This record gives sequence, structure tokens and C-alpha cells, in this order.
Amino acid sequence: MTQRLFITILMTCLTISASTGTASPGNTHGSVSVLHWWTSPSESKAAEILKEHFSNSNYIWLDQPVAGGGGNNAMTVLKSQVISGNPPLAAQIRGQGIRDWASLDLLAPVDGVANRSKWNSVLPKFVADTMQFRGLYYGVPLSLHRNNWLWINPKAFEQTGLAVPFSWDDLIAIAPRLRREGFIPLTHGGEPWQQATIFESLVLAEGGADFYKQALVKHDREALTSETMVRVFRKLKQIASLVPQRHNRLSWEEATREVIDNKAAMILMGDWALGEFKLNDKEVIRDFLCVPAFGTEGQFIYNIDSFVMFHTRGFKDRQAQLRMSTQLMNKETQIAFSEHKGSIPVRMDAVDHLEGCQKQSYTDLKQSIEANTLVPSIIHGMAMKESLQMSLINFVSHYMSNPGSVPEEAVKSLPSVLQAPSNTRRSITQF
Ligand code: BGC
Repeated sequence: MTQRLFITILMTCLTISASTGTASPGNTHGSVSVLHWWTSPSESKAAEILKEHFSNSNYIWLDQPVAGGGGNNAMTVLKSQVISGNPPLAAQIRGQGIRDWASLDLLAPVDGVANRSKWNSVLPKFVADTMQFRGLYYGVPLSLHRNNWLWINPKAFEQTGLAVPFSWDDLIAIAPRLRREGFIPLTHGGEPWQQATIFESLVLAEGGADFYKQALVKHDREALTSETMVRVFRKLKQIASLVPQRHNRLSWEEATREVIDNKAAMILMGDWALGEFKLNDKEVIRDFLCVPAFGTEGQFIYNIDSFVMFHTRGFKDRQAQLRMSTQLMNKETQIAFSEHKGSIPVRMDAVDHLEGCQKQSYTDLKQSIEANTLVPSIIHGMAMKESLQMSLINFVSHYMSNPGSVPEEAVKSLPSVLQAPSNTRRSITQF
């Protein structure tokens, strides 16, 4: 375990006890300890909405935030809590993770709430399917993110007189000019999941949705070792060189800040970045542009924010979990949350008010469902076990950080990176 992660776990434990200490359950119906990874300024603001709405029904949300975008630190903390027999009552778990945790019999279903509130009639089918295990709802969905967004700083182009690029090749060609004029051509942090975010969009851009599914969802050997994949790794190397070396330790919100502060020309990031633009009173078109990542127009990489409930023997705790599940699926709660988060509500009857990039996201979602170009985010755990997801993320990150890496060699290794360990007993450490 790295020192940084150890400190994160320690801080989380301190945060939990601080929250428990300050909460006054006196007249309330109960409380739910909630582990999540929303710690950037806009994410925290969005999480405050959930706490407020929950407390309006006289319940307390005991916050357990774990720093680290993308949720990988949060998952490590969660595993350590479960192993020590002290899981939270609720945790932010997404995609494939819902089925993996449910299959270990650690989660309590929320199927009764889902049926009573008719979740099936308001959720898109792919969202409803992702939340279920053996026909029962275990996940409570909240909001839907799109990962293949480029956030562009128009001032960088106004001030340099350069045209806004339409492709990675265009950006690579003008990168020296942007640099000379003092702009970072492309910003992002060196955290492995941030680097892998670029990989995911490139696979979609170079191969299209069918290729993406074949390679990253089905792990088809032919697709993984194809010439298309070699092109992805070649481009990845060129794109990595657009980002300054010193960005290694930047969080996603610090990197986004460079676009907001007119230091960088663009960032490729999920639409949680929109939350930061909004929080800083930035307006689309005037201050920033949102366009699909180069080459992914008409296609949509999705990522669903959701929560699960851990088994509890306490009647009051169980009631509080069920109330929380109802609250998270409440229409007004989803609208208010998404407003700050940059996502769109998962309830399809809560999208009429959307504007700007969020409206665009919803329109593109509908189109991509019809055109069969909707694909799950691998990097955010939508369609892969966490152990494989981490091995892919680390592989891509290592490739991007190592100047000596060779695309053809990387592609040869890819099938083994995505191979599940054989003859290993299933356990929570093997997710
Ligand atoms: C989550 C988002 C979060 C992002 C950055 C993603 O996995 O779905 O809600 O904002 O990570 O931490």
C-alpha cells in the first residue's frame, strides 16, 4: 500500500468519526454512513444537495468522502472496511461492481423500493440492467455521465489566431504554436485513470462502437491485436507528448482549472468537468466549448453514478437505507444534483430542464441508443471487473509515461493484460 493511500484511509476514518461526532441523531429517524469519492469543489457541492434533501426527510447522511478521482482509492478503502467487518451502510459503487459485490452476498437488495416507485418505467433499459443482479435491483442509480467530452478554451484560439482543431492530427500540428504563445495544448493529470480516459476515447475514435465492444467488452483477441489497436497506441504516444511532464501529480480538477484559467487549450474529461466550469461561473460558448472527443461524434461512452446498500441487522438502519434509496431516485433530487454535477439525471422524466452541454449530452444519448453507438466506460468500471480494469489502467498509464514504449509491442501484450486470473478463488480482493 502506498503512503498516499494509507494517509487517505486514515483521513477517511477520521472524517467518519468527526461526522458521527457532530451529527445529532436526537429527533431524526436515523442515519446512513455513506462512502463516496466526490471531493472536488463541484462534486462536494453536488453531494451537499443529496445530504440536504435527505435531511429534509429527517435523516442524517454521515459523510465518508475518500479523496481521489475515478474512485480507485475509495474502492481500496471500502475493501479494507469490509474486511475489518465494518462496512458503511451505503457506498458509491458502479457498473460491474454492483454485481460483483452482490454475488458475495454482502449487499441488501432495494427491489421493493424499485417496484413501488416503478423505476423500470423511468430508467433507460441499459441503466436498469446495470443496477440488477439475478433479476433484483441492488444498485440505486442517480446520474449519468458522458466520458468522451473535450472541453475547449476558446480564448486560447482567439488570442493565438489559430483555428479550433477538428482532429487529434490538427491539434498535434498546431501544438508548437500554442506552446510558443504560452498555452498548454492539452492538459490532464498523470493519475493512471486520467491517462486511460484518453485511451478509451481513442479506441472508440479509431475503431467505432462495434470495435470498442469487441475489444474492450468481449476482449476478443483479434480486435485487441489488430492494426486498429496499433494505431490507437501510436496516437496515444503522440497525444501523451502534448501534456507537460510536470502534470504527473495533477488531480482532474486541477487540470480542468488550467482550462478555466486560460492556461491550457483543452482537456479530455468526463462531464464532471462541467461541474467545475459552472461552479466558477463560466458559460458555454463565451468561456468554454464542449464537443465530443475527436473522432467520437455520434458515439457515447457512458458512466452511471450509483449507490449500493450493505447488509445490516438493524431495523432502523434498514429503514434509513430504503429511505435513502427513494431519495436518490427522487425527481427533484436528481435535477438539483445534476445541475451541480454536470451529469444528466438517470430518470428520463427529469431531463426537460437541461440546457447547454447537458442538453447536448441527453440528445446524443438518445441518438446513440438508436444508432447502437452507446458503449460502457471501461475505465469507470461499467463493464469489467475491478481487477482487470486496474490492470488495463496501469498498463496504459505505464505505456504513456514511458518514452521508450513501442505500439506494436504494447498491442501484443494487451490480451494477457485483460485475462482473468485462472484457478483463483473468488474473493473481494480479486474484483
Ligand atoms: C464518477 C464521477 C466522478 C468522477 C471523478 C467517476 O468515476 O462517476 O461521479 O465525478 O469519477 O471523480
